[in-house]
Amino acid sequence: MALAVFEAIVRRTTLAAEAGTGTGKTLAYLVPALLAGGKLLISAGTKTLQDQIFEKDLPAVCAALGVAPDVAILKGRQNYVCRLRLDRTVDAGMLGSLEEVRALQHIVRFARLSPGGDRAELAEVPEGSSIWPAVTSTRDNCLGAECEHFENCFVVRARRRALAADIVVVNHHLLMADMALREETDSELLPNADVVIVDEAHHLTRIAADFFGQGWSLQQFAELGADVLRVGMQAARDGAAWPDLVRAMDTAGREVRLCLSQSGVAQRARVAYDRVARDAAVPGSVAALDAALAALQAAVVQNQGRDAELDLLAPRMVRLRDLLAPWHQRPAAAVDGSADVVQWVSTTAHGAQFHSTPLSCADAFARARDEREQAWILTSATLTTQQRFEPFLLDLGLPGATAVRWESPFDYARQALLYLPSPMPNPQAEDFGELVAEAAWPVVQASRGRAFVLCSTLRAVGRVAQRLRELMEASHDPLPLLVQGDANRRTMLEEFRRLGNAVLVGSVSFWEGIDVRGDALSVVVIDKLPFAPPDDPLVAARIRQLQSQGRNAFRDYQLPHAVTLLRQGVGRLIRGDADRGVLMILDERLLSRSYGSAILASLPPFARTRSQDQARAFVAAGAR
Ligand code: SF4
Repeated sequence: MALAVFEAIVRRTTLAAEAGTGTGKTLAYLVPALLAGGKLLISAGTKTLQDQIFEKDLPAVCAALGVAPDVAILKGRQNYVCRLRLDRTVDAGMLGSLEEVRALQHIVRFARLSPGGDRAELAEVPEGSSIWPAVTSTRDNCLGAECEHFENCFVVRARRRALAADIVVVNHHLLMADMALREETDSELLPNADVVIVDEAHHLTRIAADFFGQGWSLQQFAELGADVLRVGMQAARDGAAWPDLVRAMDTAGREVRLCLSQSGVAQRARVAYDRVARDAAVPGSVAALDAALAALQAAVVQNQGRDAELDLLAPRMVRLRDLLAPWHQRPAAAVDGSADVVQWVSTTAHGAQFHSTPLSCADAFARARDEREQAWILTSATLTTQQRFEPFLLDLGLPGATAVRWESPFDYARQALLYLPSPMPNPQAEDFGELVAEAAWPVVQASRGRAFVLCSTLRAVGRVAQRLRELMEASHDPLPLLVQGDANRRTMLEEFRRLGNAVLVGSVSFWEGIDVRGDALSVVVIDKLPFAPPDDPLVAARIRQLQSQGRNAFRDYQLPHAVTLLRQGVGRLIRGDADRGVLMILDERLLSRSYGSAILASLPPFARTRSQDQARAFVAAGAR
């Protein structure tokens, strides 16, 4: 792999490299890239991997090669404390809770002492804390060169460091933000590199769709309202009835959320906009929100010139109103699959986000590839379906790229067992969740926990967990049970590792980016094959689009995505030569449908059994 990477670098071509778990792919791209020299951009799929490459892998390889390039890490601006917004938040003193007051005290101290201002270094304030939007910046609210903290700004300093460095480690969000910015404005966020290495490249298209799309959220309105109130009252108290105007906008925002509920949109749902906007209530409520924003905008314009931060609010409002405009009307439903952008809505408990997402980013990638004299290395443990790269390369508009696979060095036939119980629980059964728990429990018990049970829906998570609890009680064999939703994901994973005999029940999405090494994880149970739900607005629109192009949507889209997710999950089980584990899949389609064999052929060559006794014996051998 190192030789192939080196050749792509020298020739400035694109290489898609699938490297099975344990190959040492990070070394295989870092060594040739460091030896080749030049400006290097490395993008990781997650911030965890980004930190690992910057803090561990790069220093180790540099030391081994005896080279000392200038290396920098760069994250999105929302990862760094904004000194100006921090000052303003402290001055305004309008925090919502005691927790926020405490968090703010930590952040003030952190901003004084930290050299880089990266919020990930401040463990005392959780990632999801509501204080963060008030003390970090966005492109919209940053004052840029007019800011009094410009020279000392964490974001500015991090970007300058990155521009000057030989090697910059970024994540896909930043890489895609840069590509989208270059498409839109001809300006750039990241330095021009000779070589771009994309690790965990299987995440790229999903993240790209967010950046090449557009959208707005009710949260953005809430944040804008809070900013207007704070800045208006501080800098132009006599300029307008700020509290009344902001209150009117808040009420209009709540009305949008209410209309969505009345149109049948549940909490935490994803729905096509043409469905919710069938009657006029939702578009009408968006128009009313726009009117409230327009009133606020007029007040801001009237006070123009009184304060730099206040002046910055007007263009931010113009941009937001532009984003809102297409949502005032009822959209025409593109049932023929001809639309290349899909309008859809996602909800949280009290919020909502409105998205316009392109169905393909292939053209944008192809253009970027054509325009730049760079080498691109795209790598991951899971790029292929049945050893074929086509779906991945077509999604990226790079059908002609060189593509090579390197198998994992692990002895899967000895180290892992695929257990397909006989009989399988009936997926249509009312009590499917309970049946999954009953099928899994004998193996989980033999393994003394150390198990993930991954369910296709959140509803199933609750039912499986409840039945497992009952089974543990009935057999007087309590094992620690961690259930998705009880705590945040990071805390749950730390608990899982620490306990060493826990059972974690979560949804399939839970396993993305999880790394539990060694004995702590020995059983992975999957209730259903992870096909994306066909009624999801993005999935449904993509299927329609591919069908309209005469392509087979199942073969080219649904199957490859399910296989990637499944392979990612499977890859969590065996991380080293000494690991052993059982993968248990409770979906009879694996055996009864023709595509089942395609999925099995895409998995590592596990030994296979239908015998519960064999599965129990296999995991019991590794249990303490
Ligand atoms: S330049 Fe922008 S990000 Fe930096 S402190 Fe000022 S407002 Fe905040």
